[in-house]
Amino acid sequence: MVDNFGQLFYADPYQSEFTAEIISVKSEKNKLWLALSQTCFYPEGGGQPGDQGILQVIGQDEQIVKVFDTIGSDSEIWHQVDQLLPEGTPIVGQIDFARRYDLMQQHSGEHIFSGIVNREYKYTNVGFNINATEMTFDFDGDLTWTQIAQVEKEANQAIYENIPIEIRYITKSEQDKWTYRSKLELDQNIRLVIIPGYDTCACAGTHLARTGEIGQIKIVKRESYKGGVRLTALCGARALSYFQNILQVMRNAGEIMSANPNNLIEKINNQQSEISNLKFQINKKNKAWLDLFAEKLQPNTKRIILCNPEFEKQEWKYVCRYLIGHASDFVCILRSENQHDHIIFLYSEKFDLKTLIPALKAKFDFRGGGNQKLIQGKLQGQLRIIEGFLNEIT
Ligand SMILES: [Zn+2]
Repeated sequence: MVDNFGQLFYADPYQSEFTAEIISVKSEKNKLWLALSQTCFYPEGGGQPGDQGILQVIGQDEQIVKVFDTIGSDSEIWHQVDQLLPEGTPIVGQIDFARRYDLMQQHSGEHIFSGIVNREYKYTNVGFNINATEMTFDFDGDLTWTQIAQVEKEANQAIYENIPIEIRYITKSEQDKWTYRSKLELDQNIRLVIIPGYDTCACAGTHLARTGEIGQIKIVKRESYKGGVRLTALCGARALSYFQNILQVMRNAGEIMSANPNNLIEKINNQQSEISNLKFQINKKNKAWLDLFAEKLQPNTKRIILCNPEFEKQEWKYVCRYLIGHASDFVCILRSENQHDHIIFLYSEKFDLKTLIPALKAKFDFRGGGNQKLIQGKLQGQLRIIEGFLNEIT
């Protein structure tokens, strides 16, 4: 960790504008970097992404440099920019504060949640990441949805209490006196982020002044991860827009089902059982029709060819399997799409259907595939001629 404790983003994480001078420039792997005499741009670290924004050359208002990312390395903070400026250039820097504020809401929210999990379950946060839409954190032990809901409730209570978030710097000699998360054996000063009653954690990120600014924290996904659990969480405006979207989906589903959120599941369940019942009735009628059809077949029937039967496509396999006991060669279903284009479905148990493919290709421009037992595809020609060909082929 680069010790940047003297930097502007620590002195006041709400400061979005500052003046500085370019002190260093570099170009590496097609990326351009500037270092400044001081900065409000937080460098990526501890799961919090680097800040974005602009640099404006003092005295030349139209000269604006975009900052895409900020990192800390080699004891310096580097701003990734779209163009380089000469060393010594005075600038006004402005961070994208709406983005930074959102990131601070996520980060402070994560501390409260992880602090409660650590206190209640003794699990350690072993991974943390915030991206543009969501935040994930990993624990080295599992949590059920019921346990998550309980921690969520308490974490949101901490938000309602609007507790001031304290920052404290302690020296190596003071470290033993403190109990805090992320305890590492470090030969350097430690920055503690303290949320009284909920969490104390060593952290180099930027944080809100009070817990109330987090707005709310909601876990929206849990998945098993490396023997523990990975949670996806949303704080602040992210949580609000997530629930606005969910509510819209619920409204749309409710309109389709003529239901409200309270009876939507009941209506879906009712519809599912109606569908199962209808499927059962259809199968019963199909069987009755197939039995009648089979009764009328001549003994020693070699081939059964059904032209444009009433069956749906997904029923064809079932129909063919049902009838194959009455045909020594194969059962075929032909469905016309128009006068010249047809779909063919062939099923056999003893006859090698692959032997038919070359002739079907030559005579009816067959396009499709299959194996010895099943062939499906498209044909062109007159239905009556195709039927005759299939009946007569040896
Ligand atoms: Zn942190």
